[in-house]
Amino acid sequence: MGAPFYFTHMNTEQTLDEKLHRIDGRGYKAYKELTGEYQFPSYTLRIDHVQGDPFATPSRIRVRVDRKTSGLPRAFSANQSRKVALCDYLTRIFYKNCLKYSQGNRGTGKSGLIVVDRPGQEILESTAMVMTGQWVEVRFFMGLPATGRRIAGRDAAIMFLKELPEIVKGSLFFNRLNPSDLKTHIETAEDADALRDGLEDLGLVGFVANGAFLPRTSGIDPAPLAKDRAVRFQSPDTLETGIMLPNRGCITGMGIPKGVTLIVGGGYHGKSTLLDALELGIYNHVPKDGREMVVSLPSAVKIRAADGRNVVKTDISPFINNLPFNTDTTSFSTENASGSTSQAANISEALEAGARVLLLDEDTSATNFMIRDHRMQQLVTKDKEPITPFIDKVRQLYDEKRVSTVLVMGGSGDYFSVAHQVIQMTAYIPEDVTRKAHHIAKEHASGRKQEGGHAFGELKHRIPIPESFNPHRGKHRTKISAPRIDEILFGKTLIDIGDVEQVVHISQTRGIAHALHYATRYMDGKQTLKEVVGRVIKDIDGNGLDILTPFVTGDIVCFREFELAAAINRMRALIVTQQS
Ligand code: ADP
Ligand code: MG
Repeated sequence: MGAPFYFTHMNTEQTLDEKLHRIDGRGYKAYKELTGEYQFPSYTLRIDHVQGDPFATPSRIRVRVDRKTSGLPRAFSANQSRKVALCDYLTRIFYKNCLKYSQGNRGTGKSGLIVVDRPGQEILESTAMVMTGQWVEVRFFMGLPATGRRIAGRDAAIMFLKELPEIVKGSLFFNRLNPSDLKTHIETAEDADALRDGLEDLGLVGFVANGAFLPRTSGIDPAPLAKDRAVRFQSPDTLETGIMLPNRGCITGMGIPKGVTLIVGGGYHGKSTLLDALELGIYNHVPKDGREMVVSLPSAVKIRAADGRNVVKTDISPFINNLPFNTDTTSFSTENASGSTSQAANISEALEAGARVLLLDEDTSATNFMIRDHRMQQLVTKDKEPITPFIDKVRQLYDEKRVSTVLVMGGSGDYFSVAHQVIQMTAYIPEDVTRKAHHIAKEHASGRKQEGGHAFGELKHRIPIPESFNPHRGKHRTKISAPRIDEILFGKTLIDIGDVEQVVHISQTRGIAHALHYATRYMDGKQTLKEVVGRVIKDIDGNGLDILTPFVTGDIVCFREFELAAAINRMRALIVTQQS
C-alpha cells in the first residue's frame, strides 16, 4: 500500500536511526538535531526537548498511540474516575517496563536513563499519561547517552529502536497488560470516588471501611505495614454505615458524622494513624494499599502548627487578640509566627479558601492554642491571654459556619463538652464512647469559663497583588521548580511548604509552583485569593494540567485549591490587600 504523498517527508524510525549513526562521536550539542516527530509502525515518537549536556535534566520525550491500535477498551475510560485510574495504571506499568527493558547506565551522567514520573500510593491525575478519545500519550524522560561529552549514537539507537519499543509495547497495548489487575485498579478508583461523592448525602465527613488497613511501613515509607503485624479496622456498631458502590456493591464501615469528632485513647493506640488516613482520604489509593475505601470530603484540610512560617495580613482575630504592642490581629503579619499564631493563621487561611472539614492532631498542635484549663484561667486571667483556645471556637465553627472538625486529643478531657461524638482507640480498634464522655463531662465539671464570645465572626478575604509573584531570576530567566516535595523555588524566593501535609508527590509541588505563575493572570487587584485559586483549578479541570507549563512535560500532578492557596500564603514576598 503506497503512503500518501505528504507522508513521504515524514521522519520514520529509519530517519532516526540514520541521524543517530551520523552524529555518533560528535559533540553533545548535535543531539539537538533529533528534536521532532518520528513515525514508528505502531506509534508516534516525539522528541520535545533535548538536554544540553549528559548531566542536565534528561530529555523530554513523548510517545503517542492511537486508541484503536492500543486496544484499550472504551469502557475503561468511560468516566473521569476511570480515565484517571487507567492512565495511572499505564504509567505504573510503563515505569516497571523502563526498569525491565532499559539497560540504564550507559556512560556519562544520566546516559541510558529511560524513566517516567513514578506514581506513589495515590491514584492521581498526572501529565505523565494523557488520554483522549483518539489517542493515549506517555510523556517521559531519557538521558541521551554520551561517552565523556561525545554522543554515543549507537547506544542511543539501541535505546530508541530496541528498548523503547519494548517498553511502549509492553505498557500501552492492551493485549500485553494484565486485564484483571487493570480492571481492579479502575474499579477501585471508581468505587472510592463514588464513596467520597456519597458522603455528603449521608451527613458524613469521612468513612473508614471495615477491614481497612491503616498503618504504614514507616514514617518515610507509605506502603502498608506487613499484614501479620497489623490490626484491621472494625467500626463500632453505633457508627456503622453501609453504602452501595458501583463495582463492589455494598460496603460497611465507620461513618464520621458532621460536627465535632474527638478521637481519644492511650498513647500508641492508633489515633494519629486514623487521622492520617482520613487526611489522605481526599485521594484515591491503589489496590492493596489498605486505605482504598477510606475517604474524606474533598474540602478536608489538615491543620497543624508551623512556627517560623510567615503570615501576610491574615485575619486571625477569632483566635488571637490583644497582642503586645497592640498588633492588629484582623490583619496579622509576621515573618516568624509562633506555634499558636501559625496554627490560627492556618485555620483562617483554610477557611478563607473554603475548607469544610478541619483535621487536627494534638501531636502537631500548639498546646496553648488547643486548651486552657480552669486553673490556668485562674492564674493567667483572660485580659492577659491573647489566645482564645480552639476548644471555645470549635463549636461556633460548626454551628455558625457548618465547618466540621475531627480532632485527635488524648491529653485533655475538656473537649468532651464540645464534641458531638467521641471515638476511643484501644489497641487500634475504635469504640464509640460518646455517651460515656458526655456523662463524665456532666459529673466532673471542668470548671472552665467559655472564652469564645458569642460568635465566630466573619473572616476578611484578601486580594493578592500580582507584582509580588516574580518568577524571574536575573533579567530574563524565569526559574520555577520544586527542588524537593516540601520546597518551591519561585524566582528568587524559596517557599517552604513542609507543613502542608496533604501534598504527597513532588510533582504536585512542581504543579503548584507553576500554578503560582499561572494564577497571576487572574490577579487584577479585585479578585480575592479564593477566587484566584478557584479559577486556576477550574481551568485545570476544563483544559488539563498542561496549561500550567510553557512546554509539555510529564511531571506535573494535580493538586487542590487548598494546597495552592497554602503555597501562596507561605510566600515571603507576598503582598495582599484586605477586602474591605
Ligand atoms: P497514637 O497517635 O495513638 O499515639 P499512632 O497512630 O501513632 O498512635 O500509632 C502508634 C503505632 O502503632 C505506629 O507505629 C503505627 O504505625 C502503629 N499502628 C497504628 N495502627 C495500627 C494497626 N491497625 N495495626 C498495627 N499497628 C498500628
Ligand atoms: Mg498520635
